[in-house]
Amino acid sequence: MAHKWTDEENEYIKNNYKTVSKKELCEKFNVSMASINHKYQRLEITEKSIMGISYEWSDSDIKYLIDNWLYKEDSEIWKELGIDKFGFGKYVVTRKRISLGLVGKSKRIRQNKEGYKYYINYDKAVYTHREKMEDKIGRKLLSNEIVHHIDGNKSNDDINNLFLCKDNSEHQHLHNSLECVAYKLVQNGTIKFNYETGEYYL
Ligand SMILES: [Zn+2]
Repeated sequence: MAHKWTDEENEYIKNNYKTVSKKELCEKFNVSMASINHKYQRLEITEKSIMGISYEWSDSDIKYLIDNWLYKEDSEIWKELGIDKFGFGKYVVTRKRISLGLVGKSKRIRQNKEGYKYYINYDKAVYTHREKMEDKIGRKLLSNEIVHHIDGNKSNDDINNLFLCKDNSEHQHLHNSLECVAYKLVQNGTIKFNYETGEYYL
């Protein structure tokens, strides 16, 4: 049965459509999305008028955008900042990003076969774990320097999961130390060996 809209309800929508999402209106008036869309048309509320709202960017929002625009889609950022409530967050993020000059690089993060994350910057693959380490130490890495993933997960680029080795032999030494520890765990029975598969297991 069609919802009978009261004047009061019409007033409520006119006064609140900028701050209350359509979904919330559906729930409030117990009507379908189609019904709300129809109501919007009748009241001449366009998506454009909703998008015209200016989002108040806090300093921490801006910092988040600056730190993450290369690694995340705009749509992920607006979800994480919680400004997706009205369904226009993506445009807010995109507009802000462009106004801050955060453009020119492909932001799409890909993953190679080994699990390393990278993005393409003017035809060149930039590995995000190396870039994060460069940000930390404040200089470009040398080609023989290796960034090791401490937990073995090559897509975990949390800075606390990254360790800079000055060359391949230091990197090898680090991996050897892990093997030594693993053997101790075999000796104390934490890690076991499967004679059928020829593999260790926990
Ligand atoms: Zn390593």
